[in-house]
Amino acid sequence: MSTPEIIVIGGGVSGLSCATELARAGRRVQVWTATAPQQTTSSVAAAFWYPYRVDPIERVGPWAAVGYERFASIANNLTLGPKVGVYMREAIELFTEPVPDPPWSRYVDMFRHATPEELPPGYRHGIVFEAPVIEMPVYLPWMVSELDRYGVEIVIRRVDSLAPALDLAPIVVNTTGLGARELVGDARVYPVRGQTVRLRRGALDRVLIDEHGPHGITYVIPRGSDVVLGGVAQDHVESLAEDPEQTVAIVQRCARVEPRLVGAEQLGVSVGLRPCRDEVRLDHEVHDGKLIVHNYGHGGSGVTLSWGCAEDVRQRVADHCG
Ligand SMILES: Cc1cc2nc3c(=O)[nH]c(=O)nc-3n(C[C@H](O)[C@H](O)[C@H](O)COP(=O)(O)OP(=O)(O)OC[C@H]3O[C@@H](n4cnc5c(N)ncnc54)[C@H](O)[C@@H]3O)c2cc1C
Repeated sequence: MSTPEIIVIGGGVSGLSCATELARAGRRVQVWTATAPQQTTSSVAAAFWYPYRVDPIERVGPWAAVGYERFASIANNLTLGPKVGVYMREAIELFTEPVPDPPWSRYVDMFRHATPEELPPGYRHGIVFEAPVIEMPVYLPWMVSELDRYGVEIVIRRVDSLAPALDLAPIVVNTTGLGARELVGDARVYPVRGQTVRLRRGALDRVLIDEHGPHGITYVIPRGSDVVLGGVAQDHVESLAEDPEQTVAIVQRCARVEPRLVGAEQLGVSVGLRPCRDEVRLDHEVHDGKLIVHNYGHGGSGVTLSWGCAEDVRQRVADHCG
């Protein structure tokens, strides 16, 4: 390909979404990534549209709303959605005490309060809504093929600084997630370890979430042929090894609220490190006429925010280029 106008560093969902958005806008883009997209944190995301472990809410809300619309339009295209691993599913979030409606409730379809009959024992409140589920091992390869269609090359290359990219291109987008700690020396980025268990899906088709319950985070996310059970959120823990005790505990917690999981075949366990930060870094700087856009620190919501942040990045590039 001819010299890229933009180098996106990072091949997770943030980088691939930015590259797609920019390529669709007619920009010549190249992606540099230390690991193949299927080996990123993004590939182990559960992944349900839901703003979780991410701030600030006044920026997150509009980004999440864009993501909702984009994923819903893919899912509602019934020839495309299942092929690329994007589904709309009804979800119920459970609470042991009544709580105010979440600030994002206005962005989702079919929002309502659960009826008492819908609440498992021990819960006194629930919200029901429809939201996208994204099966990352299917979705990420589709994004790669989309980028290929736009002529965007994905180069496996780790860099120690932004300099090599800035030497080649006038615009660099930094979507390195946890890697931003070292790449740009950002000490505000830290890992929050997550572990999930995959079981065969059977007839389950409703997402179930209990983020605040006394037994720990519990979620059940039916995808295509499997269902992802979670979860774990361990601040500053870097281990990618499975914790077998957590595996057992996750399955027990989930089966308590969804008894149909009992006896389902276990298909695998995944561990990933959420790239958390006190707030998402989406800003830009100009050095010697070159534009650097930073887009990382999406915590437990990188998939949810991917398209909204990519739009924001595209707009910053357009403003810079005039
Ligand atoms: C168990 C679990 C469940 C989750 N569930 C959900 C969910 O349901 N919904 C949701 O929205 N989110 C979820 N998340 C969060 C989501 O996975 C992350 O927020 C998201 O993957 C972040 O994407 P990213 O592209 O910014 O980072 P990453 O996926 O980590 O990608 C970073 C990229 O940068 C590259 N890189 C890093 N350093 C360098 C360097 N020096 N040089 C070159 N390349 C570099 C890496 O190789 C990689 O390609 C979950 C996370 C976990 C762990």
